Amino acid sequence: MKKILVTGGAGFIGSHFVRSLAGADVTVLDKLTYAGNRANLDGVPHTFAHGDICDAGLLAEVVPGHDLVVNFAAESHVDRSIDGAAEFVRTNVLGTQTLLQACLDAGVPKVVQVSTDEVYGSIDTGSWDESAPPAPRSPYAASKAGGDLIARSYAITYGLDVSITRCGNNYGPRQYPEKIIPLFVTNLLRGRKVPLYGDGGNVRDWIHVEDHCAGIRLVAEAGEPGEVYHIAGNAELTNLELTGLLLEACGRDWSLVERVEDRKGHDRRYSLDDTRLRGLGYRPRISFDQGLKETVGWYATHRDWWASS
Ligand code: NAD
Repeated sequence: MKKILVTGGAGFIGSHFVRSLAGADVTVLDKLTYAGNRANLDGVPHTFAHGDICDAGLLAEVVPGHDLVVNFAAESHVDRSIDGAAEFVRTNVLGTQTLLQACLDAGVPKVVQVSTDEVYGSIDTGSWDESAPPAPRSPYAASKAGGDLIARSYAITYGLDVSITRCGNNYGPRQYPEKIIPLFVTNLLRGRKVPLYGDGGNVRDWIHVEDHCAGIRLVAEAGEPGEVYHIAGNAELTNLELTGLLLEACGRDWSLVERVEDRKGHDRRYSLDDTRLRGLGYRPRISFDQGLKETVGWYATHRDWWASS
């Protein structure tokens, strides 16, 4: 049976990834920050190691013997990185390097570093392909770009088989209610106001978390060392358009929308060209309409999961 280590596996995307690994022997290593929640893995067979990807001693115990390591562990919220960048650099850069070194030392045959379209900055028209240079504009994006570049260097310098995935904005059940979809849905379900940044014209490409995980599994199987793979969704929307859909799904109206000052350095638009991954057979399966309906339904029926946040 394949042994897979999922770092950050108690978070939003990592826990969906663990759920998608039926038949594997899975270890989850997670620091359980505010964003990590062991309940995200309820009913899912796994071995749990509580700890930090910056802890080389712990990694030397946990990493050996795994056939695949997938790194989701990160500080992941742009607004928090603007308020304080240090933890982002620590986990997303130093933690990634510490994990890669442990994988190299243990002879792990395949590693996937999970990353984001935000490393490229902002693009008004067209889409980035994987040859676009990183040009991050927030401390979060810069720290992820740093981790990605360290991963590339481990592939080239040491021959570690590590591939990098970059994905757009994820949505789905169990996303901590600080990102726009779960924040707006949980506020609207409570009849509270939602804060819309600036003119609401920022564009994001939305992907259901399960499609993202399918793309990562494909890269784990077929990705080349040191290469980047884009995982795109199928729904490009302005925040204003998204807000309209969320109001409709929650049965609320625009009186609950509060315009707030724009985020500092707010990227206008992200867009990924995913031709490379499609060449390996990738297709997003979940339409945004259906995925959003089910996601709102999940938050409506799992108030105990988010009520205290
Ligand atoms: P999340 O914030 O929900 O989860 C992060 C997890 O990592 C948590 O369980 C947390 O406890 C854990 N963690 C944080 N620091 C750690 C450390 N030092 N050691 C061990 N564990 C630690 O994040 P997410 O939205 O699930 O994102 C997962 C990954 O996917 C991140 O690398 C993120 O950059 C990337 N990504 C996210 C999105 C998105 O839309 N959410 C899009 C593209 C890429």
